[in-house]
Amino acid sequence: MFQGPKTLKELNYQPLPSEPVRLDAVVQTHAHTDHSGMLPKLVKSGFKGPIFATEGTRDLLEWMLPDSASIQEAEVERLNRENRRRDRPELQPVYTMEDAQATLRHIRAVEYETWQPVAKGIRGRWWNAGHILGSASVELEVETGAADLPHFSILFSGDLGPQDGALQQSPRGPQGVDYVLCESTYGNRERPHLDDDQRRAAIARDVTQALGVGGNLIVPAFAIERSQELIGDLVYLMARGKLSTAPIYLDSPLATRATEVFERHLHLLDDVDPKAGSPFRAPNVHYVETVDQSMALNRISGGAIIIASSGMCDAGRIRHHLRHHLWHPRTTVLLIGYQAPGTLGRLLQDGAAQVKIMGEEIQVKAKIRKLEIYSGHADRGDLLTWVKARLPIQRGLFLIHGETTALAGMRENVLTLGLEPDKVIVPDLDQRYQLDRAAGALAVASTPRLEPVRTEEAKQGWDWHNELAAFSLELRRILDQAQNDKARMALLKDMRRVLDKR
Ligand SMILES: [Zn+2]
Repeated sequence: MFQGPKTLKELNYQPLPSEPVRLDAVVQTHAHTDHSGMLPKLVKSGFKGPIFATEGTRDLLEWMLPDSASIQEAEVERLNRENRRRDRPELQPVYTMEDAQATLRHIRAVEYETWQPVAKGIRGRWWNAGHILGSASVELEVETGAADLPHFSILFSGDLGPQDGALQQSPRGPQGVDYVLCESTYGNRERPHLDDDQRRAAIARDVTQALGVGGNLIVPAFAIERSQELIGDLVYLMARGKLSTAPIYLDSPLATRATEVFERHLHLLDDVDPKAGSPFRAPNVHYVETVDQSMALNRISGGAIIIASSGMCDAGRIRHHLRHHLWHPRTTVLLIGYQAPGTLGRLLQDGAAQVKIMGEEIQVKAKIRKLEIYSGHADRGDLLTWVKARLPIQRGLFLIHGETTALAGMRENVLTLGLEPDKVIVPDLDQRYQLDRAAGALAVASTPRLEPVRTEEAKQGWDWHNELAAFSLELRRILDQAQNDKARMALLKDMRRVLDKR
């Protein structure tokens, strides 16, 4: 499912690029919405087969797919209110709650590192990818029936975790496969590598500082993994007196459900003793359920830690908290995860002086802190370690799932491992390949849904919707600063003349 800039998000409403009824099965790497969010659309469009996923992924999807459906329904509801006022045709949601529920019935749970038949002549094996609970790289072995090459194998990395993640183990995988499709999110970026103690010391410092000035600490967090890592660390530090005990509110019903899934799979987590009970519970940790309870948090003027999703501030209850808190200089906003270009989180990270939330202009007076210590993604070095451990890669390495610059950086890196340059492929969106017995991967004619990105701005994910929002804020600022209403009127008339000339 496309997230981020509206131009990309609009693709979610278009037909899928392959015919769902012709597909035999789906092999799922993990539960994140950008990887799982189109499953209900697939089922809605006629897919009849099984969806194979690990138990952890299945249990998370049980909450995430319905949640995604309600987001789809709410978004279309909002757009349609606008469309009706403008006399434009109404949209249909990408899928509904019913489609999400139907999808869950297709899921078949698989064990890690155990061969599983997935379709005629194809078997799969799931390897722990160390990214989020249940995450996996999927290895497929395909029978060809040909004497010179009886079978070949493909490994999909899925999203990969770091070598030193907080709750997840280091990624694992097979060696010597024919083709690898490797994610490249952080293909050109290094992250500081912290061990558990260093990471906890860093978070303790930031929390102490934020609460020390008397305001609240607002943390936009991803419902899966980031929220649990953060709460796990805070509970750990407060229980040992390394951080003063403060009320912690997790204001995300989805994150709460995810926490319960984590608690059912404690044995999968790194450095967690299942016998010691849940590492995510303490008397000062409050799991907020209802909207009323969420609104009531507005009455707390200081000293509280409010964790809410979404992690990039694009949706969810975090937007209400930011609207309520951003203008206040004693507030601290702590960004602990990746902020994609074009998202509200990225605007804050880049130092925007004012932002628009739910149509309202808000001055940013809060301190914006960035502490990217909980990344569930492998960085440049981790990715290289992972690829190296998969060698030899016999026929081809596809680099996928990254911004243009990250993909370019990743390509440069993997070439240092001695891979042949023409076997390291960076495909465009919707590019198709034929896997040829003799020649390897051959690009075949295909029609992309979007023009490949060319301009520098498009590379950064900045589209005309972002430009319009920035422009209207700037216009408002200029009008506010104009001497009087007469000057404002003159300015607007000048602009009108420019537009009329077009
Ligand atoms: Zn992911």
